[in-house]
Amino acid sequence: MAAYVGVRHAVVFNAATSALFAAYSAAGIGEGDEVVTTPVSFVATANMVLAVGAVPRFGDVKLDGNIDERFIERLITPRTKAIVPVDFGGKPVAMAAIREIADKHGLLVIEDASHALGSETGGAKVGSRADMAVFSFHAIKPITTGEGGAVVTDNDVYAERLRLIRSHGIVKKKFWNSDMTTLGYNFRMSDIAAALGRSQLKKIDSFLARRNAVAAYYDARFAGETLFSTPQIPIECLSSRHLYPLMLIPQLHCPKEDIFEALQARGIGVQVHYKPIYKNSYYEQRFGRQSLPVAEDFYRSELSIPCHQGMTDADAHYVADTVLEVVEQYRYRGCSF
Ligand SMILES: *Cc1c(COP(=O)(O)O)cnc(C)c1O
Repeated sequence: MAAYVGVRHAVVFNAATSALFAAYSAAGIGEGDEVVTTPVSFVATANMVLAVGAVPRFGDVKLDGNIDERFIERLITPRTKAIVPVDFGGKPVAMAAIREIADKHGLLVIEDASHALGSETGGAKVGSRADMAVFSFHAIKPITTGEGGAVVTDNDVYAERLRLIRSHGIVKKKFWNSDMTTLGYNFRMSDIAAALGRSQLKKIDSFLARRNAVAAYYDARFAGETLFSTPQIPIECLSSRHLYPLMLIPQLHCPKEDIFEALQARGIGVQVHYKPIYKNSYYEQRFGRQSLPVAEDFYRSELSIPCHQGMTDADAHYVADTVLEVVEQYRYRGCSF
């Protein structure tokens, strides 16, 4: 795992959620601290900030769902300890710009790369330029161990802390003597899961190639489409293509539930990524209502269609045909209020 990403250490966990908790803890983030992150992610990214006693400050995103680096600086306060970007759908975040801001303010970059194992910018793998980066091996992620996750880092001290947090904070001494030096947990990946992970990791490049072939086919089929757009991957980047998002035009925002239902009814497992984290009732009750314009619009527009190495050419044709047919049916429906 470490060799694949191009870093010194990979510490595996039983989930990316526990890996995020351990990464924030290893970074010394705690009570009274703040973290700048994105609302367009799975809740665990921000939940684990709360779990270590800190507060997430949400920055708005760009049209591709990645955090907008232009808005990061205004969220930084004397309490800020880290920037936590998420490579949405596998598209690498603007790491050079994010690193520059972090370095200028003395902050860490902890990348939630749960979508992006194998993604690259300029030949550098996602995760290799952060202080720590987290990957998920949940069943639907680029590779799977059933449930699982990892933190990768070049930093020996963080790696040591991560291992302690993962396993009860216990250091083995002589014979039966051991010492618990820090508060730890049991966040260990099982050997059975790790065996699956090793075999999956051998296949990652073929998985990525197949996902990219399906995505390239969609790109070609959807070129010139007027009812939705599809975020492009810059030439210098490789995406894991964890998601293939369609961004529906405003006219299709109202009938999105119907479009979703129609596609599900035809056997296409569509999904919406993500309801902005701050819109969840727990966050609203704790922090009040928030609204970031691009994140809100992203949530209204986004519809992810299947893009997976298990898909045949015929599957991809069926998805593209059906998507085009269904959205066309809603072209003139508009909003009914
Ligand atoms: C899946 C995911 C997680 C959580 O991963 P688990 O392995 O299920 O704990 C965290 N962050 C992001 C962005 C994810 O997509």
